[in-house]
Amino acid sequence: MKVNQADIVISAVAPKQYPDTELPEIALAGRSNVGKSSFINTLIDRKNLARTSGKPGKTQTLNFYLIENALHFVDVPGYGYAKVSKTERVKWGKMIETYLTTRPQLKAVVSLVDLRHAPSQEDIQMYQFLKYYDIPVIVVATKADKIPRGKWNKHESIIKKALDFDRNDDFILFSSVTKQGKEEAWAAIEEAMTF
Ligand code: GDP
Repeated sequence: MKVNQADIVISAVAPKQYPDTELPEIALAGRSNVGKSSFINTLIDRKNLARTSGKPGKTQTLNFYLIENALHFVDVPGYGYAKVSKTERVKWGKMIETYLTTRPQLKAVVSLVDLRHAPSQEDIQMYQFLKYYDIPVIVVATKADKIPRGKWNKHESIIKKALDFDRNDDFILFSSVTKQGKEEAWAAIEEAMTF
């Protein structure tokens, strides 16, 4: 998709704040610093719409971005940020769980993992949660440019094994530096939107 228009419409913490439209929604989840903002910005050809924050995990709201009047990207706050209290974390978990399990417009979740590392416990939990609720998942492995091409397969295998990856799901190697995987990611998103 060629994106000319992309605007944040709301930062929501509760369902009553979700945008009142029927547009399909694609949520994006991943641990802080995985490259989620960079992924969003690459897909929409912006430098800085989804703020690449120096303070990981700071955004604790669901940020809805309207893309071309055709869909919403829903930026789910990054998990795995150690410095939040347990109460905060429980609140955060409930907010995300509510959104993911009750929103009819949600068509797929882009689950971002860092290609360089084995998935964290939270990465695995998120993937298994989505599988349990039968929510379509697109796994995007970020920062591929930081790994030599000859090692991509090995890293991909480690991630898939740890996630107990379902071979029917999309797995996309991505880099916001080289833009590798951009077209593939859009194809997967556009496919998911049709369901
Ligand atoms: P977020 O916290 O998940 O939104 O992560 P950001 O998009 O803010 O990225 C975190 C850091 O990783 C920043 O310093 C980015 O420049 C860097 N980064 C993100 N994506 C890539 C990538 O594909 N390749 C490389 N080399 N660095 C990246």
